[in-house]
Amino acid sequence: MADDIRDITIIGGGPTGLFAAFYAGMRGSSCRIVDSLPELGGQLAALYPEKDIFDVGGFPRVLAKDLVRNLVQQAMQFRPEVSLDEQVRELVRVDGHFELKCSGGTYRTRSVVIAGGKGAFEPMPLKCPGYEEFMHAGVEYAVKDPEAFRDRRVVIVGGGDTALDFVLMLKGIASRITLVHRRDGWRAHQATVDQVEAAAAAGEIDVRTFYEVRTIEGTGRVDRVTIFDNRTDEDMVLECDVVLSCLGFKPDLGPIKEWGLDVQKNRIMVSPLMATSVPGIFAAGDIVDYEGKLDLIATGFSEAAIAVNNAVHYVDPAARVNPGHSTNMKVFKED
Ligand SMILES: Cc1cc2nc3c(=O)[nH]c(=O)nc-3n(C[C@H](O)[C@H](O)[C@H](O)COP(=O)(O)OP(=O)(O)OC[C@H]3O[C@@H](n4cnc5c(N)ncnc54)[C@H](O)[C@@H]3O)c2cc1C
Repeated sequence: MADDIRDITIIGGGPTGLFAAFYAGMRGSSCRIVDSLPELGGQLAALYPEKDIFDVGGFPRVLAKDLVRNLVQQAMQFRPEVSLDEQVRELVRVDGHFELKCSGGTYRTRSVVIAGGKGAFEPMPLKCPGYEEFMHAGVEYAVKDPEAFRDRRVVIVGGGDTALDFVLMLKGIASRITLVHRRDGWRAHQATVDQVEAAAAAGEIDVRTFYEVRTIEGTGRVDRVTIFDNRTDEDMVLECDVVLSCLGFKPDLGPIKEWGLDVQKNRIMVSPLMATSVPGIFAAGDIVDYEGKLDLIATGFSEAAIAVNNAVHYVDPAARVNPGHSTNMKVFKED
């Protein structure tokens, strides 16, 4: 057994899990965060640390990595235990508490808040020769540091927000950008589509609709990609340094599916209290579903507060669900 029992264990250290950890601390609960990634921040740190976010309350504009830094600072004032690089594999109930069996040990907890996002970060693969072979040797699925793309010839594949956002992010940094999409409709915000179309009209990027990738080739690293017109099957060879595949992520909860929760379409179904079908296990953020669910940081924050306050009440039925207002809390008046 790795340690002492905690009131609340949070699975996932993305924005939802971090805000949940803050809330647990504010409520005076002992708390632990477990995340399979080597750093906190979830999708913001792993996929788009250098992108600006515009729709988080109180921040007209904030870099994803700065939001993570603030969330970590806010959560850490209550010193939750943080276990990184550890996947939670099994969750079992033993004598009125839970045991989480992780890659690094077994943790005991009185309640659980699952904030596991999309689960493990499994990108949808490009189904073509060279994709696996050149992964991280010219094939990428995220932009952690735009400078790594400076003066590179980049082929971006996809038609969603991620692909189009990366086009705009790398425009002016990459020496050439070709956007490849298998049809001529986009699954992205209209404002983003407008900017990409304006850049294409100005000759700043090359857009290839009705094209798909046939092969990725190179010697040690990617040096060319063959795309084909899916209407005529005609090939086109593009010399390039990086293929940025933005086909989304395969939602796979992995071991979480085996925990006896009500899981539908890879999402955990929750009540308005963010309670799962198993008493004592709550969930919040991208991993949950209910009527009207939106996958946003803002909704994750709200769900985290609801989940944690109900977990506090579950652990100690004498504790009120309603936390009161932070403005009046003694815990913030100690300095
Ligand atoms: C390119 C891009 C741009 C975006 N822009 C915006 C935006 O402008 N505004 C907005 O509101 N939202 C945006 N989003 C969506 C936003 O990032 C998500 O809604 C948010 O990250 C969800 O937070 P979360 O904490 O629920 O999950 P995540 O951020 O996915 O974090 C979940 C964490 O759980 C961990 N985990 C999963 N399973 C396990 C396990 N079994 N054991 C241990 N750890 C586990 C994962 O490693 C991960 O760190 C964007 C997303 C992308 C991809």
